[in-house]
Amino acid sequence: MASSIKNRNGNNKVLIIYTGGTIGMKRTPHGYTPSPGFFAEAVAAIPDMTREDFPDFELVELSPLLDSSDMALSDWNKIASVIYEGYDRYAGFVVLHGTDTMAYTASALSFILDGLDKPVILTGSQIPLSELRSDGRDNLITSVMIAADGVVREVALYFSGRLLRGNRAMKMSADGLIAFDSPNYPHLAEVGISIRYNYPALRQGGTKPLTFRPFSELPIGVLKVFPGIQFGLFEDIMADKLSGIVLETFGAGNIPGGGDRLLPIIKKAFNNGAVVVVCSQCPSGTVTLGAYESSSALKNAGAVSGRDMTTEAAVAKLYHLFSLGIPKDEIKRLIERDLAGELSEL
Ligand code: ASP
Repeated sequence: MASSIKNRNGNNKVLIIYTGGTIGMKRTPHGYTPSPGFFAEAVAAIPDMTREDFPDFELVELSPLLDSSDMALSDWNKIASVIYEGYDRYAGFVVLHGTDTMAYTASALSFILDGLDKPVILTGSQIPLSELRSDGRDNLITSVMIAADGVVREVALYFSGRLLRGNRAMKMSADGLIAFDSPNYPHLAEVGISIRYNYPALRQGGTKPLTFRPFSELPIGVLKVFPGIQFGLFEDIMADKLSGIVLETFGAGNIPGGGDRLLPIIKKAFNNGAVVVVCSQCPSGTVTLGAYESSSALKNAGAVSGRDMTTEAAVAKLYHLFSLGIPKDEIKRLIERDLAGELSEL
């Protein structure tokens, strides 16, 4: 698994974990694909990374390398376990990842690595490192510098000059180089000529030892409501199959048609032990259950507010809480509490 490119003895050594994604991909007749060893070759060709004043680093390449659309629960656990096992040996970690599901992985890591007190920075690129005009070069170099700095003590995502809280980040553009933002949380740093940290926005370090809390395979689902949705079609899956459901509603938590069709399904799901978390389809703002009649009904049926959480964070949080094996009422209570910086409490 490990291929060490550079390993001088120093205190600020960073572990770079390449998981796959565009940054290290190779062009093939069938499109871009990750290829073992290809990323390490591209890194070796970046002069800045061999400079004396560049932080010490080691590179590990996970196997298999993935397009991040193939990332699964076991991959989140694997990435977290590499960090957990190397925790005492490195000042910080950079996780190189495809952009498509980077916000999900960032959210997942923020729960799996409970009590984190060192920087874990996810980054990637829209153009491979080996190609002209790659945005991967700055994303990689700056992420390693942030990881070596040790100022950040949480899972963050760096992309195109912005350092974002990982479990607040969203992919906003499929082809723009400024691909991520965190509409509901201030940037953790702006990177121009210098790295300007937004200290009040940073999370305080863990006061307890780091604990590895892997996710278990669980039936978690996301349902996005839309005008004309026939809720009956989803009854089986919502009421009988899923333990946790993220309901992506309109605006502040509203559902179509007064929810007449949905509410009995939610009640049934609730009675069967499921937890329904109400999130918004709007990237910015918060769910306020009870602001409108249709959302009051959701609350009465047993749904719980995801407040200003992203869907990515809500999915990861459901995996986290159900994996802890705690009672449903406790899960419902904790959904509305800030556990890893993912949500603004009332
Ligand atoms: N499909 C790629 C991935 O997520 C896209 C990217 O890396 O930008 O792995």
